[in-house]
Amino acid sequence: MASSREAGARSRSEGQATVASTTTTRIHDCPSAQPDMAGARPFGVLAGSVDAVRIAFFKRDAMQNFDWRQRFGTPEATQVFRFAARCEKSACGHYDDAADKCSLASRVATALPPVTDALPPCLIRPSCRWHAEQGSAVCLRCPQVTTMIPAGQGPLQSIAAPTEPHTDEVLLR
Ligand code: SF4
Repeated sequence: MASSREAGARSRSEGQATVASTTTTRIHDCPSAQPDMAGARPFGVLAGSVDAVRIAFFKRDAMQNFDWRQRFGTPEATQVFRFAARCEKSACGHYDDAADKCSLASRVATALPPVTDALPPCLIRPSCRWHAEQGSAVCLRCPQVTTMIPAGQGPLQSIAAPTEPHTDEVLLR
C-alpha cells in the first residue's frame, strides 16, 4: 500500500478471536515489507498468473545457501518475492496509532476474498503482525497480496488506500 514509508507514519494493531495475546509488547514482522528494512528476508515467491498472482510460500530450507541480497536487495525484488521485516509501527503509513494495529492487515482480512480453504504453510506466522492481529482470516487472503501492485481499480488497489499511489504502481506496505 502505500509508499507508506514515504507517506509517513502510523501504527499497528491487535487481533480477534483466533489472535494471539497482546501484540503491543511483542516484536512483530511486517509480511509486506521492503528488502531494505531491518530484518528483511524473503518468505515467498510470486507465482500464479498475471491476473491471479499467488504467493508460493518457502519451505524452511529454501533460502539456505542463497544470498538473496546479492541479486535481490533492491526494491524491485518485491516484483519477485514477498518480504518480511521488522514492523516499523508508527513509521509506517498503515499503522493505526489509535488502535495500535496495522490498518492494512484489517483491510486485507475484511475487504479481500479468501483464496484458500486452509492456512498456508507460512514460515513467518509466529511473528507475523497480520496473523497476530487478524488471525486465520488474513492468512486465507494473504496469498493474493503482492507488495508492489500495478495501478488500477481492483481489490488490491482498493485496500492499498489511503496512501497515495506512485506514478504507475502502488506499494502494499
Ligand atoms: S500467511 Fe498469515 S502468517 Fe503468513 S504472512 Fe500471510 S498473514 Fe502472515
